[in-house]
Amino acid sequence: MQLYLLVLIASLVAVLALESAKPLRPLAPGAPWRWLNNLLLAALATAVTLLTPLLFWALAGLLSVQRGAPFGLLHWLEMPAWLAWPVTFLVLDALGYAVHRISHVVPWLWRLHAVHHTDPEMDATTTHRHHPLENGVTALISLAVLLPLGAPPLAVLAYSLFALVVTTLAHANLSFGPRLTRALGWLLVTPDFHRNHHRSAQRWTDSNYGIVLPWFDRLLGTATAVEPVEQQRQMELGLAHSRSARDQRLDQLLLAPLQSRQSIAPTAVRAR
Ligand SMILES: [Zn+2]
Repeated sequence: MQLYLLVLIASLVAVLALESAKPLRPLAPGAPWRWLNNLLLAALATAVTLLTPLLFWALAGLLSVQRGAPFGLLHWLEMPAWLAWPVTFLVLDALGYAVHRISHVVPWLWRLHAVHHTDPEMDATTTHRHHPLENGVTALISLAVLLPLGAPPLAVLAYSLFALVVTTLAHANLSFGPRLTRALGWLLVTPDFHRNHHRSAQRWTDSNYGIVLPWFDRLLGTATAVEPVEQQRQMELGLAHSRSARDQRLDQLLLAPLQSRQSIAPTAVRAR
């Protein structure tokens, strides 16, 4: 748990330093206010996320003790660690992609997830700007998959730490430039790739769902091409609504899922 918090804070500070040194987009007015509220919400959401490993270890331990043997598919298949680790990585990233994509379609999940999307800018502080209830739902779904899978706890921890670094970088107010984006873009989600997902225009919001790997977007046809750097500087981020300073305040972020304007899932708008 301490390691998770350490990596979270270190990646946040490192990426904030990087993006301050060479920001892609100029700082919008009111940036410190947005940062403060993003970080306060992130603290609440992270507290919920930290309950997941505790529950995972407790339940996995309980099930194993009850059965007198390690619980889960990977144990029953007697899968060696060198294979169980990459399988766990792939399953976790596929799960992240699936939950994220579903969150853009199912209205009540969108109400929670939209809090992440109403940030009118995208930077390191956007990474963990999630409604705590969204993190709770994600935690329960993850447990429902990880326990029957019998995922090695250390592999789950390693994926979580790696995902922290990649997602913080993916939200950075930075451009990796066309060359590095092309080279890395086959392997990892880059900020240039993920920025499309934070555009307010419908066509883009419902694209580039990947968490660490861009492979599922490419395989399942939800990838949109990285825009030229100049276009990335000017594109409108966030959503069409909830753009005022008041909307960015912690209490409003927490109450947002109850508001009617949050009820319209992006896909529902497109279907009209
Ligand atoms: Zn999203």
